[in-house]
Amino acid sequence: MTSLVDRPVKSDPDIFETEHRLRQGNYMRGESRNLRNLLEDDLALVVSLDLQMDFIVTELERLYREGLRAYGDPIIVNGKYEVEVREDRGKTPCPWGDRFFAPKTVVSARNLENGTILKYSLLGLHMIKRHGFFQGAQSPFRIEPSLLKKFFDL
Ligand SMILES: [Zn+2]
Repeated sequence: MTSLVDRPVKSDPDIFETEHRLRQGNYMRGESRNLRNLLEDDLALVVSLDLQMDFIVTELERLYREGLRAYGDPIIVNGKYEVEVREDRGKTPCPWGDRFFAPKTVVSARNLENGTILKYSLLGLHMIKRHGFFQGAQSPFRIEPSLLKKFFDL
């Protein structure tokens, strides 16, 4: 890995603008790669881990929906996951500029069998699902692909 900061991709105005908004919103904290390289690296990581992202996104949405039924209390899902959903007022616009607004909701989940803890926001889930974006290496809400693999025992 190079220590030099990638130059922003000016040839593609959309991705350039998106990267700017992502950096402003702290979604690429400590990230020296530009957005295109980050997306490519994470895609390669997902492939190397043999992760089926459709399955993972479906499961993360399901844990959120199940957790929601407990109104902020922890709930056990499938006898295997302890899930707690915290909802704050308001919505956050997706920084990709697609007019998607995510509720300010954070899901905390623990695999009771192996102890793996996963924390994700609904915006973070949307950005994986729609944009293949897991957030920057040091972003507080990066959803690490290797952690997903561990969490779901894949
Ligand atoms: Zn979006």
